[in-house]
Amino acid sequence: MDIQRIREDFPILNRTIYGKPLIYFDNGATTQKPRVVVDSLVNEYYSVNANVHRGVHYLSQQATELHEASRETVRQFINAQSTNEIVFTRGTTESINLLASTFGEAFMKEGDEVIVSVMEHHSNIVPWQLLANRKGISIKVIPMNDCGELMLDEYKKLFSNRTKIVSIVQVSNVLGTVNPVKEMIRIAHAHGVPCLIDAAQSIPHMKVDVQELDADFLVFSGHKIYGPTGIGVLFGKEEWLDKLPPYQGGGEMIQHVSFEKTTFNELPFKFEAGTPDYIGTTGLAKALDYVSNIGIEQIANYEQELTEYALKRLYEIPDMHIFGKAADRGSVISFQVGNIHHFDLGTLLDRLGIAVRTGHHCAQPLMQRLGIEGTVRASFGLYNTKEEVDQLIMGIERIRNMFN
Ligand code: PLP
Repeated sequence: MDIQRIREDFPILNRTIYGKPLIYFDNGATTQKPRVVVDSLVNEYYSVNANVHRGVHYLSQQATELHEASRETVRQFINAQSTNEIVFTRGTTESINLLASTFGEAFMKEGDEVIVSVMEHHSNIVPWQLLANRKGISIKVIPMNDCGELMLDEYKKLFSNRTKIVSIVQVSNVLGTVNPVKEMIRIAHAHGVPCLIDAAQSIPHMKVDVQELDADFLVFSGHKIYGPTGIGVLFGKEEWLDKLPPYQGGGEMIQHVSFEKTTFNELPFKFEAGTPDYIGTTGLAKALDYVSNIGIEQIANYEQELTEYALKRLYEIPDMHIFGKAADRGSVISFQVGNIHHFDLGTLLDRLGIAVRTGHHCAQPLMQRLGIEGTVRASFGLYNTKEEVDQLIMGIERIRNMFN
């Protein structure tokens, strides 16, 4: 991979912060956008803009073609069988809420159970809790070992005849752990239970193939894979989506409406009430094409090498504590240094132009399990370099010396 050439695609990387070149290590929160993505948004507004699926006029048809072509790009990217299985949403959070709400409505009743893991993002906990409050279901939690790996033996013990769904993250946004979701889906299926995979932190960094995983549902956000904000995906096997009731009501999701009876549109439109973000879907498709053109395997290998380098260098710092030592890990590193508060460390790194995340990373149950309030998190994207990692190390050393 020619990183310098890739960096030129991202205008924001030329910025300075407090007079220092920006080093952007907050890719787990959101990624920067290549020019092709931003250009596609601007160009579509300037030259195509019209509401989709409704108009007989030229622009509307062109906008509809772009929008539906984007669905096909997503289908290919995750290797779904059909575009009927690709529902556009606002992002991972909305996708999980959609699923929890509709699946809960159709298939869960008081006393039923959902299995999640201790390392879930709040967006894969709270929707199930809202459902629990409404329906009286209960939530079972897969524990992890001290390396930050889910305990599969404990997972197997959580199944009962009340288990209706498993909902787990593929890559932890805090620990970087890559969970063995293929095996976990197989185990769920052996119990006749479907599985939702939160791919928010995996899809930008590794090949995600829904058929190979045999995932029943899989969700992700466009903005974490170099695409626009406000657009995301819910993949669901057609046989499942067919059985679920609509989520929101409105235009587009209906076949026929009368005050006596309304019938619903076919998949995937049944779940897409109202005007969709058709500009955003084009941007998302451009982002996926951008990633595909570089090659997701190449990106994975490059980021793996960068992460190993960063881990090695971080461990050279005395008092360094890294959370998450899973054998299989992605490009997210959470740490604390001595007694320096994570906010102080993050704020001082920012003064050096280095953007990292601090806090609980929307994973408070995981923080409780770790017995901490928060960490500093560096998360890499395809444009980060070893030189930037060296700057991070120098920055931490400097701050450490200040505190000592
Ligand atoms: N799941 C995981 C693992 C995440 O890291 C995030 C965001 O950080 C989300 C879900 C929520 O994504 P969004 O805010 O794009 O809906």
